[in-house]
Amino acid sequence: MTNGSKSHSRNRRSITLAATAALALAAPLAAGSPALADANFPSPNGNTNTASIVDYADLVAQLEQLENTSRFGLDAFTLAEAGTAVNTSETGRDLYVATVGSGPEAVWLQGRIHGNEPYGTESLLAVLKELGTNGSPEWKLLRESYTFHVIPMYNPDGSELNIRHTVLQDGTAKRIDLNRDWGVGKFEAVESEAYYEYWTMVDPAFAIDVHHQGLKTERGDGDEVTLSLGVSLAPGGPTLPGVQGGAYDVLTRQMQVHVYDELSKYGYINIDRYDVGRGIEIDIKGGVVSAMMLGLNHDGLNPEGHSNPAIFFETSGNTSDGSLGQKARGKSIKQNVLALQELLVGMATGEVQQEDPARWDEIPHAPVTGYQTDTGVIPASF
Ligand SMILES: [Zn+2]
Repeated sequence: MTNGSKSHSRNRRSITLAATAALALAAPLAAGSPALADANFPSPNGNTNTASIVDYADLVAQLEQLENTSRFGLDAFTLAEAGTAVNTSETGRDLYVATVGSGPEAVWLQGRIHGNEPYGTESLLAVLKELGTNGSPEWKLLRESYTFHVIPMYNPDGSELNIRHTVLQDGTAKRIDLNRDWGVGKFEAVESEAYYEYWTMVDPAFAIDVHHQGLKTERGDGDEVTLSLGVSLAPGGPTLPGVQGGAYDVLTRQMQVHVYDELSKYGYINIDRYDVGRGIEIDIKGGVVSAMMLGLNHDGLNPEGHSNPAIFFETSGNTSDGSLGQKARGKSIKQNVLALQELLVGMATGEVQQEDPARWDEIPHAPVTGYQTDTGVIPASF
């Protein structure tokens, strides 16, 4: 086992270029022209051609290309190179990370922990391209504020199989949901061990996790929802208000309120709050970003109890059942890129931290009836 050393060569926390305060007033991001709701997004019409989805070989090739064409020091590497004790997928695939930026705070961005939710990969590759090449003030601000640790394809085995899980290679062929595997007594899959140790090396300031959900219509008017905003330990729920004195219960809501406001400018994006159905909010401790918020100390690798706030995005539609038409692909990726960009800039400028967290209630959602915990649903009146 590793000694948990935090001095390996990839760690850049020692680099402390100050963020340029003047850039806090950087020009606002270009707003899309208001558009009519787009009937093609989400669309169940026209199967997505899965051959067009980025696969593992594409990921490796694109990361190499991003590193080679970067103007601003993008570094793509494997967890083996980073020095984690466990560093491949169940079937032995290398696990890739890309870093870019030289800011004093680390930011963790991950996608495709569920292998059949492909646009996390493509959204994060698009963000990496901007971080690596875009010289405009807001991207410069991001590079100077943060050091990004980007995991575009958390689950390469599931991605290659176009399934949610990874499959244990211990003879059981047991399927593991990697987003339920950072729990006490869990860590059944090697991917969990590998990324967890890397998280303890990085100690991020905050994290964002990109997912897909099924097709969804808005409560009331029945409009198609294109993006749901979530926190995997429900704000105001049974767990999060007791974490870090309630700080994450406030900040995660501010983060999502900011995304909601900024993305509502774009006509084709229709946002609501994530739930698992019937007003049941998610409150799972074993989710990766939940465990980050809880400061999980697994295997003694996080003795100081580092924790960080985290949120997730859920693009509507997926590819495993053909529910998301090809026409929606570009827009699905674009809305994630916009959400990531607006949130990151808002965090760097301090706009997010000025949002009113109570406005979380203004984001469309069903009345909260209960909480989906790791062990079952509990009523909202816990
Ligand atoms: Zn997912």
